[in-house]
Amino acid sequence: EVKRDPKIQVARLKLPILGEEQRIMELINENEFLIVAGETGSGKTTQIPQFLYEAGYAEHKMIAVTEPRRVATVAMAARVGYELGLSSKEVSYLMRFEGNVTKDTKIKFMTDGVLLKEIQSDFLLSKYSVVIIDEAHERSVYTDILLGLLSRIVPLRRKRGSPLRLIIMSATLRVEDFTENTRLFKDPPPVINIDSRQFPVTIHFNKNTNSDYLKEAYKKAVKIHTRLPEGGILIFVTGQQEVRYLVKKLKAAFPYRKDVDYTKLITKNKPVSDVDAALDSEPEDIESDDDEVEREMKRARKARRKAKQKSKTLPKINLDDYDMPEDDGQADLVDDEDSEGHLSDSDAEEDSLTPAIKSCRQPLWVLPLYSMLNQNKQARVFNPPPAGARLCVVSTDVAETSITIPSIRYVVDTGKKKMRVYDHATGASAWRVVWTSQASAGQRAGRAGRTASGHAYRVYSSAVFQHDCPPHHAPDLCRRPVDDLVLTMKCMGIDKVVNFPFPTAPDRMQLRLAEKRLEALGILEKPPVKNVRKDDEEVLKVTPLGKAVSAFPLLPRYGKMLALSHQQNLLPFTIALVSALTVPEVMTGKPDSWPATGNVLLLGDPGVLLRAIGAAEYAYVKGEEEVFCAKYGLREKAIKEIRKLRKQLTSEINLSVAGVNVAVDPEMKPPNDNQARLLRQLVLSGLGDQVGKKIALDEVKQEWVVFQELYETGADERRKMVMRNVTAIEPEWLPLLVPQLCNLGEPLDDPPPRYDEKSGRVKCHFKGTFGKA
Ligand code: ADP
Ligand code: MG
Repeated sequence: EVKRDPKIQVARLKLPILGEEQRIMELINENEFLIVAGETGSGKTTQIPQFLYEAGYAEHKMIAVTEPRRVATVAMAARVGYELGLSSKEVSYLMRFEGNVTKDTKIKFMTDGVLLKEIQSDFLLSKYSVVIIDEAHERSVYTDILLGLLSRIVPLRRKRGSPLRLIIMSATLRVEDFTENTRLFKDPPPVINIDSRQFPVTIHFNKNTNSDYLKEAYKKAVKIHTRLPEGGILIFVTGQQEVRYLVKKLKAAFPYRKDVDYTKLITKNKPVSDVDAALDSEPEDIESDDDEVEREMKRARKARRKAKQKSKTLPKINLDDYDMPEDDGQADLVDDEDSEGHLSDSDAEEDSLTPAIKSCRQPLWVLPLYSMLNQNKQARVFNPPPAGARLCVVSTDVAETSITIPSIRYVVDTGKKKMRVYDHATGASAWRVVWTSQASAGQRAGRAGRTASGHAYRVYSSAVFQHDCPPHHAPDLCRRPVDDLVLTMKCMGIDKVVNFPFPTAPDRMQLRLAEKRLEALGILEKPPVKNVRKDDEEVLKVTPLGKAVSAFPLLPRYGKMLALSHQQNLLPFTIALVSALTVPEVMTGKPDSWPATGNVLLLGDPGVLLRAIGAAEYAYVKGEEEVFCAKYGLREKAIKEIRKLRKQLTSEINLSVAGVNVAVDPEMKPPNDNQARLLRQLVLSGLGDQVGKKIALDEVKQEWVVFQELYETGADERRKMVMRNVTAIEPEWLPLLVPQLCNLGEPLDDPPPRYDEKSGRVKCHFKGTFGKA
């Protein structure tokens, strides 16, 4: 029996999902699959596990809830335990490196990656009676793979006479990828939509888009706090550092002091709870055209005059009623071209906020929120601010759908988020700040309308929203390079990647080609013949080398280079080399302007590239990077990018590969001849399926080369194939490093070499035998 604190019971009853408890439980009891779609804050995460618990689903087996984010895993376990009056022994969480699960655990919150790991050792998930996949709309790679696996595990459990239920929860109503995908679910699972009371939110755009979005967000927050009625502010930025920066800045502007009784001060000077009075006070600030807060003030003042005695609340406005400032498309272009001028403009504007800040005596209760924030600090966002202070939460996108902060009335949205962006050539990934999707912007705005009508201020223009923000971002799984995905899944023991029931499937042909490439690189292999039944589809397994390669955060071919260079102590060189190979057009000048190498032959040559990077770093330390790059035909931007990548890659490798600890030595000494030769062999080991032989011998002595990429440029007669980053190799290395390519003889002219568009390869026939020696 559950004994809830009466206060909690009152709060629960306000949640829209409570009214649906009976219907939800009927659907769960009668179906193996169920999709629950409901607005953020409707109570999905905190309440459905409780419904299940009360219905007895945790009596013999556990209830599993997966989250794509660590922050939600911890916070939600704590909340559900608290609401049920149970301890963390019974409502527990588990994520990589951390957890509090016991043998008495009934409800287990975990990151999606953790449940995937459990499937590898217990495919039927026999410890669980229900699995809830939360935040399925986020479409994280692990969540998508889990859904595919669970679509098969559930029927297997039924056959064993021990049914398992799967509940998919989403904050958006867009669930067709789950319901209309017959490979995933033969019969579409029932969908229950939680109708939630969402109050109207007015959306405001800036007229111009300032590239310094933090400054814009700051200005907007200051204006809201100094001029608009009571109500919490939620600011969306892209990462932890930005959160900390804004928190500090806002705290400094409106400090909270423990020894002051703000309740008195405020009722005297700023009757903020009285909308009319707040709007009456004239802004101290100069008027600026693109100031949406200003306009909102004017609009409200006007509305108030009209309906003087009638209403004391803000007018109710429709969420879909977008406020479009006139002719701002032009303004955007001007901004982009002249962003520096614009920045200095807004400096002046920021200064102009000073009087408003000085005369405002109400403190702002500013709290940070991001994934790595410690648990106690995270929990503070749920508590009301001290009397007299206004709540302001500065958050990354965790507050978008994972965590609902009560009583937010104003949202300030920078329109930006951090996204992992992959380099298509090397698979090296970097976090980039990109525009959010329109769907995310909608979610963010919605946070202002949970408890009352609210306002969302987008500090960018509506033109940006329409043209630069995609309607949705593609699922992570489809944005990842396929080779990497195939290896990851094979390492999880998912053998038939091509037939896997993905919620949104990557191209099958690409998956097949990836398997072939990985086989050629010795990362996958056919199992011994005795295990293969006749009509079984061919299943490739991960080799021990493949296991080592998968630890590196790069496309497997580059992971292979790194895995092998670990043995030879060449890792710092290889990291720098891979970083350089990731960045296009490092050298743009004539090779002969390059001083140190004597006769430079090939721009992809490890010796040449590493010498260039080392020397450029040396110049950078002396403050002469620009001059140096110009003099020797290096692209300065490329050099800067390589520097960043080297640092990132080094720290990621140190984190993810056991027993490895490399330091970045920016001014790396160039490799000696022997090392350079070994590095060329490493390049061949990773790109061994991209080998070419020079047929016409001009000045270049080396005959055999390996290349990073082959592409076509020009049209019609000027069409030509170009090899990017070419490295010379010696033919006797071929059997050594690519055992599949033994006894390669002369290329044949008949049939002639042919470019295959699908694979992006030139197909060429050779005399000689092909296969293992
Ligand atoms: P959903 O999963 O549908 O987005 P939740 O179940 O997360 O909704 O949230 C339901 C309500 O519970 C929200 O109003 C939220 O503010 C509140 N809530 C969640 N966690 C806490 C907490 N730790 N303290 C106080 N309130 C909380
Ligand atoms: Mg939730």
